[in-house]
Amino acid sequence: MTYAITQTCCADATCVAVCPVNCIHPTPEERAFGSTEMLHIDPRTCIGCGACADACPVDAVFPVDRLPAAQKQYVAINAAYFEESEAPEPDPEGPNFHPWGEPAFPRVLPADFAPLKVAVVGTGPAGMYAARDLLLHTSAEVTLIDRLPVAGGLVRHGVAPDHPATKKVGDTFARFHTHPRVRMHLGLDVGADITAQELAAHHHAVIYAVGASADRRLSVPGEDLPGSVPASAFVAWYNDHPDATPDGIDLSAERVVVVGSGNVALDVARILLADPDTLARTDIAAHALAALRDSKVREVVLLARRGPEHAAYTTSELLALTHMPGVELVVDDHDPRITRALDEAAPRDKAAALRDVTRRPMEWAAPPAPGRRIVLRFHCRPAEVLGENRMEAVRVTSDAGERTLGAGMMLRAIGYRGLPVPGLPFDEISGTVPHEAGRVTGQPGTYVVGWIKRGPTGGIGTNRTCAAETVSTLLADAIAGTLPAPRHTTRAFHRLARRRRRRPADSRFPQGLLQARGAR
Ligand code: NAP
Repeated sequence: MTYAITQTCCADATCVAVCPVNCIHPTPEERAFGSTEMLHIDPRTCIGCGACADACPVDAVFPVDRLPAAQKQYVAINAAYFEESEAPEPDPEGPNFHPWGEPAFPRVLPADFAPLKVAVVGTGPAGMYAARDLLLHTSAEVTLIDRLPVAGGLVRHGVAPDHPATKKVGDTFARFHTHPRVRMHLGLDVGADITAQELAAHHHAVIYAVGASADRRLSVPGEDLPGSVPASAFVAWYNDHPDATPDGIDLSAERVVVVGSGNVALDVARILLADPDTLARTDIAAHALAALRDSKVREVVLLARRGPEHAAYTTSELLALTHMPGVELVVDDHDPRITRALDEAAPRDKAAALRDVTRRPMEWAAPPAPGRRIVLRFHCRPAEVLGENRMEAVRVTSDAGERTLGAGMMLRAIGYRGLPVPGLPFDEISGTVPHEAGRVTGQPGTYVVGWIKRGPTGGIGTNRTCAAETVSTLLADAIAGTLPAPRHTTRAFHRLARRRRRRPADSRFPQGLLQARGAR
């Protein structure tokens, strides 16, 4: 019995490391790893041992004969990868049958090497993969810091509540919150409560994993009218983010426009139309569930400026929309390029996933037709948000001209942007901190990982290799003797942190994600 990798794959490649027959590809050593949306199991080589399923942090791996109906298509998706890819033909006699490669971290440290004191700023996936590497591979003592009173970063406040398997990776990270060599300070804002210089003075090294917390702007007239909000505000609202206002989202309109075709756009569209009884079984915020039960929203229109072949979503997230009970998925084929892209798509092309989806030109002047639906409208973009005291419509342009879509809410899911960290250099164009393999340029002992290092792309698992690179650089610097010695003890730092913390740890979530879940 072989196994298959399914929708929730985080591509962190934990499964690759435990597979005894090297049947999971692409591996981090293969070129395709950098651009893959998910990993695949080669049914020709899989011996059905289940080691990958045991190791998977997000419950994405199943025996093929036990796949739920909505995931059955992943049997073909896994197999198809090996028909056309660069993955090597399985060769049990070949030299690469167990290509685990060189160790990622130096195994031999000088005998008199004192434990490193490392601060990690940010407890999301990037920070926690880095902390995990330090704790598992070295004797470092780690100070974990988060500006929020709850640990978890985007795992806690970004992942949609109807993706509980993805959230499970948070449990893997939360185990390290209580590691004997970890001290955690929640509700401590580096740059506001404590300076980067103070932090550096108490540690050998500081790793910044602060993400990309600002929203990109469309820069169209009317963008700031009430009702036009960044998708991140909606995500924060349904995920009980401490900064979100419980009554901050108005769901009284029948039609909502979402700008963008990334996974965040798909997340918010799905949550807007999901069955509230299904959401009630998740950890969605109570205020959001109550509002969604009373919601008038029936139609969500996604506006994508490019064609279906260039959509930013991953195919697995798109396929999940085709299985939503009671929700029709429609492609608005207002432009002949859309029909061409869908009809001419090769089986593994992104556009092929939409080939069997209903296509019809939509009528926008009238209110939405009866029923609940998600409409994908490619090759168009918003030109203006219209309304007096709050938004009432969006003027949309495409090659065919202009249209006005009546809509009571517009969510901008057009990506995030990093913010400068006081005391660190910053590249205004990319919204990232300049670095070489994770070492902040011109600042010995300072490192970056995750979205503040590489920009706001890639899912949770992408951070595993990103963190391995940063930690490798840090350890190489330690061995080379280029880390500045701390001027004060970490004990002094913990005292300072307790004095400076302005935001007490959330009493509902005393320690971290594990406890947060238990408290619910
Ligand atoms: P994203 O994947 O970068 O998508 C941004 C979208 O906004 C793209 O469709 C982009 O179009 C569009 N866009 C950007 N500027 C625009 C403008 N001025 N006007 C109109 N459209 C514009 O960003 P995201 O959705 O925020 O996701 C960020 C990362 O998190 C991604 O790597 C994503 O996969 C990951 N994520 C994963 C999951 C999951 O696995 N379930 C969930 C959420 C997020 P172009 O493509 O034309 O630039």
